[in-house]
Amino acid sequence: MPAPLRMEVEVLNLRTRHPFIIARGGQSDYRTVWVRLIDGDGVEGWGEAAPARIYGESTETVLAALQAYGEHLPADPWQPEETERQWEQTLALNPSARVALSAALHDLAGKQLGIPVYRLFGLDPARAPRSTFTIGIDTVEKLRLKVREAEAYPILKIKLGTDRDEEILRTIRELTDKELRVDANTGWTVKQALRMLPVLEEYGVTVLEQPLAATDLDGLDVVRQAADIPVIADESCLVAADIPRLVGRVDGINIKLAKCGSLREAIRMIALARAHHLMVMVGCMIESSIAITAAAHLTPLVDIVDLDGAALLANDPFRGATIDGGQVRLPEGPGLGLSRR
Ligand code: MG
Repeated sequence: MPAPLRMEVEVLNLRTRHPFIIARGGQSDYRTVWVRLIDGDGVEGWGEAAPARIYGESTETVLAALQAYGEHLPADPWQPEETERQWEQTLALNPSARVALSAALHDLAGKQLGIPVYRLFGLDPARAPRSTFTIGIDTVEKLRLKVREAEAYPILKIKLGTDRDEEILRTIRELTDKELRVDANTGWTVKQALRMLPVLEEYGVTVLEQPLAATDLDGLDVVRQAADIPVIADESCLVAADIPRLVGRVDGINIKLAKCGSLREAIRMIALARAHHLMVMVGCMIESSIAITAAAHLTPLVDIVDLDGAALLANDPFRGATIDGGQVRLPEGPGLGLSRR
């Protein structure tokens, strides 16, 4: 029997250009974990774990989880369903740790075959939509600077969920005619959301993401009924099993690999959402081009893309998918198509 794949793990210290602030806080320094799965010929598959506190993870939990999953590495990357099932049975939750391994498996399988991951999934990279670029919560002066810096991006996603949301929107709208989408990151009550809907309309906002607390599904229903623009669930939708109870209460879901734990689960989510006529968005964490590129390989299947995590960084160590001018461009190399900068 061939030897199991070998795993190497390294913590990455990432820094955003500006402190990245959303409704529940933020910072400039982010630690993610670079995972490499290595076969007997020395071919490497890469993945990245970007842990989020709200989903119960930290760099430390990722490192501990990877140690547990490392006991169950296959010899063959070509059994991803079985391998991923075993990891989840070994240790549930820990989605960012599991997706790092999932991405590495797919990267390795693509490299062994000599084709990009999007081809493994049968996708046309020309169908990838444009990505938004996020403007985090900030002072009026810094917002102006950020809008200028985002000149190359045609669609902006504005973080709200503060007591000065209208001022933020007005400041940005005074500077640009671009399409604006809004993400309140659970920051509003139903009452606040209903008060904000006409403000969003006044400033021409086209999408509203996660206005309410993750568990307030009835509230989401109320907001959706009152809204003229699509309401998208992010924090309320982690895995495919969350989708049925969102049907009829939102217009779409935001899939993030760091929430769902697997490229294959992301595809299951897309299929299930489509079956319920929901819009599909793919989003990201603050993470390097490794995790961004893994998600980018699925973008030909979705309506809305928000994959600016690496573009917000001052020190991305890797090259992969890009969002130059907003357009998602997938690398043509085998696997995920990643390289070191
Ligand atoms: Mg969001």
